[in-house]
Amino acid sequence: MTGSADSDRGRAGAAVASRGAVELLGRGVAELEALAESLGEPRYRGRQVARWLYGHGVDTVEAMTDLPRAFRDRLRAASQITYPRLRRAQDAPDSSATKYLVELADGQRVECVLMRFDDGRLSACLSSQAGCAMGCAFCATGLGGFSRNLGPGEILGQALVIRAQAGVRIGHVVFMGMGEPLANYDAVLRAARLLASPQGVGIGMRRLTISTVGLVPQIHRLAAERLQLTLAVSLHAPTDALRDRLVPANHRYPLADLIPACRAYAAATRRRITFEYVLLAGVNDGPAEARALAALLRGVHCHLNLIPVNPVAGIPFRRPEVPVVMAFAARVRRAGFPVTVRIERGTEIQAACGQLRLADGQGRPSRWTPPPAVTP
Ligand code: SAH
Ligand code: SF4
Repeated sequence: MTGSADSDRGRAGAAVASRGAVELLGRGVAELEALAESLGEPRYRGRQVARWLYGHGVDTVEAMTDLPRAFRDRLRAASQITYPRLRRAQDAPDSSATKYLVELADGQRVECVLMRFDDGRLSACLSSQAGCAMGCAFCATGLGGFSRNLGPGEILGQALVIRAQAGVRIGHVVFMGMGEPLANYDAVLRAARLLASPQGVGIGMRRLTISTVGLVPQIHRLAAERLQLTLAVSLHAPTDALRDRLVPANHRYPLADLIPACRAYAAATRRRITFEYVLLAGVNDGPAEARALAALLRGVHCHLNLIPVNPVAGIPFRRPEVPVVMAFAARVRRAGFPVTVRIERGTEIQAACGQLRLADGQGRPSRWTPPPAVTP
């Protein structure tokens, strides 16, 4: 797939779609096989279509050149391929991240990010909803409210747009863009399976991470699927009193339900849970919170990711000073937990965690200056 910021991808798909046409992007391999069969072809033709869509990222049936002409004609008449349409790409000054603003067929806009790590790893951060209904106190996406769920093709299409625009092989995918992935469970799982599968994008399940605010029933449901992806749980506070203030979803799913769900997830999948903990100066970054956090998580098979809060205009939280971050990390580490401090990519272009917004995707300019990089 090739294209530029004003590529017509998506518009073409939406405009030419005939009534009742099947959207191909986001269809699983079995569905594409069934579709091929319904059009009078052997099932393996469906696998060929999947290879063109997810392996090569083509945006027309015409480009699927190893399909017989007659089948291509029938498939073209019966289907459409609608990619998110790239509206803007913005590079961080240090090239550590590129933020893409994409437009969906109904005009809704969401953001996704390519993160480049020093060791060469490339990770795509995808949005699962336009906006978010969860209203966490420090998050730009939450500020803007909720618009709608994305479909599976709209979610995985972001990865395909990033791959094509950057001309790279994506190594990891994190569902940490706009929205709460587990509030859009079916579409996210379908996108995850296609991203992971060798017959899809081929990234591998172990290289996917779903981040959740902590929706307990969905965590149990995901545990039962026994997938090898990483579950990241946004904890941010070690007590209900504090978490209620920062993460309103805690009223519904308090720690007494959330932590057992995490234990059950780790037991069912034998995978270590990642707990994300946004550090907010003077709010949740003291020795008492570090001790309470260690007590809360005792015995949970987990890893802790500390995220000094990213600046969001209109939100009253500050990053702790570097020594405070290091002291917090050291305390939790001494209690026996593996801890990393996340070094954000893309804060300058409002592409880091919690900085993605609806509207034009730019956010308001921030006067905040990043502190020196923190090494764990
Ligand atoms: N809704 C999901 C996934 C998207 S948010 C979730 O909440 O987990 C991805 C991560 O960014 C979460 O851990 C979230 O708490 C964090 N985040 C939100 N706002 C942030 C901010 N201003 N600074 C740093 N991290 C933030
Ligand atoms: Fe939604 Fe996650 Fe932001 Fe909370 S942190 S408002 S769950 S996107």
